[in-house]
Amino acid sequence: MNKKEFWFVVGSQFLYGPEVLDTVARRAEEMAKELSKQLPYPLVYKVTAKTNGEILEVMKEANHDDSCLGVVTWCHTFSPSKMWINGLEILQKPYCHLATQYNREIPNEEIDMDFMNLNQAAHGDREHGFIAARMRKPRKVIAGYWKDEAVIKRLSAWMRTANGVAFSRSLRVMRFGDNMREVAVTEGDKVEVQMKLGWQVNTWPVGKLVETMEAVAEKEIDELMDVYRSSYDFATDDEETVRYQAREEIAIKKMMDAEGCSAFSNTFQDLYGMRQLPGLATQHLMAQGYGYGGEGDWKVSAMQAIMKRMGKDENGASAFMEDYTYNLVPDAKYSLGAHMLEVCPSVAAAKPRIEVHPLGIGDREAPARLVFEGKEGDAIVVSLIDMGGRLRLICQDIHCVKPILPMPNLPVARVMWQAMPNLETGLECWITAGGAHHTVLSYDVTAEQMKDWATIMGIEFVHITKDTTVDSLEKELFLNDIAWKLNR
Ligand code: MN
Repeated sequence: MNKKEFWFVVGSQFLYGPEVLDTVARRAEEMAKELSKQLPYPLVYKVTAKTNGEILEVMKEANHDDSCLGVVTWCHTFSPSKMWINGLEILQKPYCHLATQYNREIPNEEIDMDFMNLNQAAHGDREHGFIAARMRKPRKVIAGYWKDEAVIKRLSAWMRTANGVAFSRSLRVMRFGDNMREVAVTEGDKVEVQMKLGWQVNTWPVGKLVETMEAVAEKEIDELMDVYRSSYDFATDDEETVRYQAREEIAIKKMMDAEGCSAFSNTFQDLYGMRQLPGLATQHLMAQGYGYGGEGDWKVSAMQAIMKRMGKDENGASAFMEDYTYNLVPDAKYSLGAHMLEVCPSVAAAKPRIEVHPLGIGDREAPARLVFEGKEGDAIVVSLIDMGGRLRLICQDIHCVKPILPMPNLPVARVMWQAMPNLETGLECWITAGGAHHTVLSYDVTAEQMKDWATIMGIEFVHITKDTTVDSLEKELFLNDIAWKLNR
């Protein structure tokens, strides 16, 4: 594992004398150490910056040091921010302004002008905020007392997002076959995506995958079958069919690992030489943190891999999902999401079952797949679309429920949810924004994280919440169109 950390850069100036500067440095170090105990990544105190040169130097280092995932700034004292222009101008890493204060309370007896000069984040952070606003520098602003749970939680979430940014900027996606014929929303400009998001999206022949599958040893399959047995319940006697999925999984993983890929796509229209569409194989790969998109949907595949990294322990509960069908009964209006096979078991409410059923699509043998219900809880669905000249990230708040019906003849994993603000308005908003039928559904990553990610990446973000109306969304999209045209 590569070392990952965040840098704490504290602004000041020479005006206050060495004693104050020593105090600031000591406190900043203490804060970084204390915070690091509760954050997902260490926050490392770097410098109490007093000059343009110091700031420029630390930002240069942050840019070229791969272990630095982002920079957190704070101004304990007043730091004249023209000193920050050159450093912020070149900063390429995610940037968070933590507007906080060392002390929680104003001390009644102790407060005098010396105290005021030392503890002046209330105006220091405003001067610091101005320059980033003036420079239109993308940043996250988190305000509050540094020991408060809410502040630590938001800083933690932003760190996870920054980890998703670093991951995105080095992400490689392996495509087997093209997009499904005639489908529009899964298309996209791979050059634009690489420029904006860093993704290297390239294709490998299905024939090479079949060759790799044929070279898999029985012993390797035995080992993976043991993993399947310990992770899942077997609801089939058809060992050979399950073994074939294991063969597919091993081969796909070998090819991805050899090329440094963390996400892949395939299509049922291009399975030449394969006996089954990968089902269980793909699901178990997703459980290990690989992204996947069906029907050649490399965008959703990449987003899934990124969102997994942005979740708990860098492999959160995020699944490739497809809106399938609705329950439109008054007081029980739900979306039913699934896929023809490939739903990630990270979102399962209970231990998934391995089942074998025929597949009507793709003209191949009955594949093994994991069948389960999604868990209950608040979640989001996310779709990245190519608007022609720019990317739009659409995020909708949803609430997942235990599926209200057992659906005993449905041979795939399923998740049921209520869209915000309700099924009809939520659907009208989604369609108005152009959201895809494929999404990443996540219980782990928040809408705030997705917004932060989009901000850092410099792409449009649209959020459908409990308060969104079609009218307000239409106005937002109209204005966004103009703004993003100017932006290019
Ligand atoms: Mn699909």
